[in-house]
Amino acid sequence: MPYGEADVVVTLFTETLGRVSAMARGARRSGKRLGGALEPVHGVRVELDERPGSDLATLHDARVLRARTFLTTDLDRLDAAGHALRWVRRAAPPRKPEPELWAEVVDLLDHLDDRTDAVAPRTHLAASGLRILVALGWGLQLESCVRCGRACGAERAAFVDAARGGLLCRACGGSGRVVPADARVRLVAAAAGKDATLVDGDVALAFALVDEVLATHAGLEA
Ligand SMILES: [Zn+2]
Repeated sequence: MPYGEADVVVTLFTETLGRVSAMARGARRSGKRLGGALEPVHGVRVELDERPGSDLATLHDARVLRARTFLTTDLDRLDAAGHALRWVRRAAPPRKPEPELWAEVVDLLDHLDDRTDAVAPRTHLAASGLRILVALGWGLQLESCVRCGRACGAERAAFVDAARGGLLCRACGGSGRVVPADARVRLVAAAAGKDATLVDGDVALAFALVDEVLATHAGLEA
């Protein structure tokens, strides 16, 4: 976010502190190296000064450690990365290290930067969204009822209420959303790391489920 004439307030997702906001003074002046290091998809080492009683740190230095330049040349990859980072910005709690979320985001960005990776960026994003929920403690339970715990066979369609945490059996009230058996199996596989399992229709379904969960827990509008 631009601030004043030359400054920028940046939101950083950091390995050691989690989500942090910081003031980058002079970042919009041409020729300042800070600005160049603050493109959102790269891995950057930052030096922050924290002021007691202030939520806003001061960014002193930022150096790119892991440039993801291929990612920035492809609009679909860039879109997927931006979408994931918006999820993180809104859902990650401030000033709380989130190692599992950190690992997931780094992994997604690395996949999106890999020119030999043939899986569609949106497919990676959808699968990563399911794992981001897991990392935040909001992972969807899709193999048994969230209320009574009864297992649901892989060959059966199921009611899914993402806001309630996943599968809700008929006896427990069901939900307005029915997920076919095959799609449910693929979503479970994708959440476990098999991104390429997802077919086109699953990708939209996964986005809808992720957005519902985040709207419930993080106030994120779909
Ligand atoms: Zn039940």
